[in-house]
Amino acid sequence: MSRASERCNVTRKRRFRDHFEAIKALHRLQERSTRDTVPQRVYECDACEGWHLTSQKVWGETQQGPTQR
Ligand SMILES: [Zn+2]
Repeated sequence: MSRASERCNVTRKRRFRDHFEAIKALHRLQERSTRDTVPQRVYECDACEGWHLTSQKVWGETQQGPTQR
């Protein structure tokens, strides 16, 4: 397999190497973007162990939320 790329194989999203990088990009987009759907938050991806941006304000059905007991 090739080395980790800038893009996630699972989500096809831009991959950030850590939380700080993702937050920086998130803020940049929120400042610049004029679209309705701008990323709202960042999350750590289990598949690529990187970080992605999402426009979902809350966890959807396809995302694992906080562990419930
Ligand atoms: Zn990923």
